[in-house]
Amino acid sequence: MFEPLRKKQKQYFYSGATRSLEFRLNQLSSLREIIKKKEDKILQALKQDLNKSKEEAFLTEIGVVYAEISLVEKSLQEWMAPEKVKSPASHTGSKSYVLYEPRGSILIIAPWNYPFQLAIAPLIGAIAAGNCSVIKPSELTPNTSAVIAEMMEETFPEEYIRVVEGAVETSSELLKEPFDYIFFTGSVAVGKIVMEAAAKHLTPFTLELGGKSPAVVHRDAKIDLAAKRIAWGKFLNAGQTCIAPDYVLVDEQVRDEFLEKLEKHINDLYKKPWQKGHYPRIVSEKHFNRLTEFLNDGKVLIGGQSKQSELAISPTVLTDIDWDTPIMSEEIFGPLLPVLSYSTTAEAQMNIRERPNPLALYVFTESKEIESQFIDELSFGGGCVNDTIMHVANPHLPFGGAGPSGIGSYHGYESFLAFSHRKSIVKQSTSFDLPIRYKQGPVTKKLI
Ligand code: NAD
Repeated sequence: MFEPLRKKQKQYFYSGATRSLEFRLNQLSSLREIIKKKEDKILQALKQDLNKSKEEAFLTEIGVVYAEISLVEKSLQEWMAPEKVKSPASHTGSKSYVLYEPRGSILIIAPWNYPFQLAIAPLIGAIAAGNCSVIKPSELTPNTSAVIAEMMEETFPEEYIRVVEGAVETSSELLKEPFDYIFFTGSVAVGKIVMEAAAKHLTPFTLELGGKSPAVVHRDAKIDLAAKRIAWGKFLNAGQTCIAPDYVLVDEQVRDEFLEKLEKHINDLYKKPWQKGHYPRIVSEKHFNRLTEFLNDGKVLIGGQSKQSELAISPTVLTDIDWDTPIMSEEIFGPLLPVLSYSTTAEAQMNIRERPNPLALYVFTESKEIESQFIDELSFGGGCVNDTIMHVANPHLPFGGAGPSGIGSYHGYESFLAFSHRKSIVKQSTSFDLPIRYKQGPVTKKLI
């Protein structure tokens, strides 16, 4: 079904048009222009799809994309340059270098939670590395999907960049095609389907997945600040953020103080938007029902209100939770925050280790030693000490999961690397020929 499109892109790619620095920079500039032109429309679509406020949507969906484009513009020439490497004595007379070769035609499959940013940020990397792209936005945010399609159609020819709108069936059809690279952002379950499809053609890929990301609050932390930063990071976008703290593990000695401060900060940050109907909504009825079911898994300490007709759930904190309840077995991906306590850091570590590697981990402490127990000794995608979420907004840091929370990473230079093949070349001199390489036996062995 999508063979003609893929072939058309491949033909365009083979024409060499997408390779030059000038072409890549021009396309990035066109991309910025069209985003600027459509800013209001994008914000409107995000309001319709997820009830995101203009301020939140600009910050988390559009601002980060502009920042990413600017970084690429400043650095691309340097990134694209062949990288010289050393040559051993056995290679006397030659030069060795790595070329950053565009991969070809890229398939980008995006999720619904940051439906604009998570479709466009990978596209920036794909353009920067000199590729053609097909983007499949999420069907659960149809207004944003339509704006992205309109923008790309107005700006780029389809043999270079094309948006294909649709749901699972469309995605499955696209995955049948031997694209040169697949960049997938979404759930662990669908990540496995994508990996299987990629295996059929041995297509390289990046999987940006999810999981349960813990926030650990140790007794020596600045509790008020910890509560504020956790409240902000968790309830942004109604908790529908892949790296939102999924649950809190708080030292039992400071549990009550932490909960008290958490309530204060949730009220300060989110009470008004909730009361005025400006708080982001849950993306679909299915997810709304899944989340309200979780309310039975513990005691509701803060929030707990829901409005079915608006698919809205208020910022909610749950306590008295068992580790084997559904809320502690699945990624929550909504405005529900279970708070569990620990008596020793070894116990907290063990509870995290027993679960799949988180996409993110946050630890709040003033002690280097406690910091190290969580940051150095546990495996997870990325995270923060004494903060939440902010690591994703630094384009100089690679962003990705570890093991089941994702394979590969992107943002800034890492995106350029993800969408490039590193081609190794030895350029040999023809002005002389070392006779030793043709000799077998101990001399050659020693040389090598
Ligand atoms: P999802 O996996 O359901 O869907 C993602 C995309 O895959 C959509 O475009 C969808 O149409 C497509 N898709 C769905 N089912 C498919 C199938 N059977 N075959 C082929 N394609 C299919 O994910 P979602 O619900 O849109 O997003 C939420 C998940 O994404 C959460 O788990 C979250 O943690 C994760 N996520 C991760 C990141 C990250 O950067 N690591 C960012 C955002 C979201």
